[in-house]
Amino acid sequence: MSSYIGRFAPSPTGPLHFGSLLAALASYLDAKHHQGRWLVRIEDLDPPREDPNAAAHILSVLDCYGLHWDGEVVYQSQRSEIYTEALDQLRQQNKAFPCACSRKQLLGKPHQGLCSPPMRTDYAWRLLCPDGTRKVSDGLQADQHYNLQADIGDFVIRRRDGLWSYQLAVVVDDAEQQITHVVRGIDLIDSTIRQQLLQQALGYAIPSYSHIPVAIETNGQKLSKQNLALALKPDTASATLWQALHWLEQHPPADLQGAPCKDILNWGSLHWNSSRLSHITEKPAPENYRRAIPEEQIKTSGPTR
Ligand code: GLU
Repeated sequence: MSSYIGRFAPSPTGPLHFGSLLAALASYLDAKHHQGRWLVRIEDLDPPREDPNAAAHILSVLDCYGLHWDGEVVYQSQRSEIYTEALDQLRQQNKAFPCACSRKQLLGKPHQGLCSPPMRTDYAWRLLCPDGTRKVSDGLQADQHYNLQADIGDFVIRRRDGLWSYQLAVVVDDAEQQITHVVRGIDLIDSTIRQQLLQQALGYAIPSYSHIPVAIETNGQKLSKQNLALALKPDTASATLWQALHWLEQHPPADLQGAPCKDILNWGSLHWNSSRLSHITEKPAPENYRRAIPEEQIKTSGPTR
């Protein structure tokens, strides 16, 4: 067993669809190709946005597809204590501050520097963003360059409504689970700089990041739960896995079509070559996984990122 630890970290806001399967499969194959472990973490931090049946659906589809995870599934909703410890550490080091600024006050701009202490009881916590510029390297995509104050600013790590922000929870969990490699969709690429700033502030190791292209609908929107992407069905597992491997540019042989999931995954992990996805940012989803979109909506809205 190598020291590689990867993960798939879905938010249970809806059933697993072809787009989320791609992230699951790419992270699984990258881990298995490197003889690593592959963990699953349910990011159930935002109850108002969640579907109570989604976590169970996601896990049962992964299981049917032969995407078996190592160890126990971790649920973020049960880890508030370690997020509190991380926030306390940042507060003690004066790297986080309370803030009651409204979106309206910020005029759509990043928050820059300490603001007056809140006079109210409902306020957010923000990470104090350093000055300067940063380059973020990616295993698949071009380097990303940021002017920290202008592009990022002091971002929220605990929300005004008391919920933990995705950025803080993901960083604490990735560190606690000793994740070495993050493989996920390119829609999250601008989160990486925020996560690296937090890792640095908390003194954590920085994993390597690779962002795979997103699958898009005919109208250019990414396949997502918000856009009502079609739920994956357990009974088409083998065909869907083959299509996903093909979509990920892995060139699976035609005679692997219809093979048991286990055989498709074995072939995929043996032959996995992520560089085939280098610098590809989006690709149309296979036709059978696109929604039927009324003609008049086609090309009216751009990609979601
Ligand atoms: N929970 C996030 C999502 O479902 C993904 C988090 C991550 O991979 O860092 O979009």
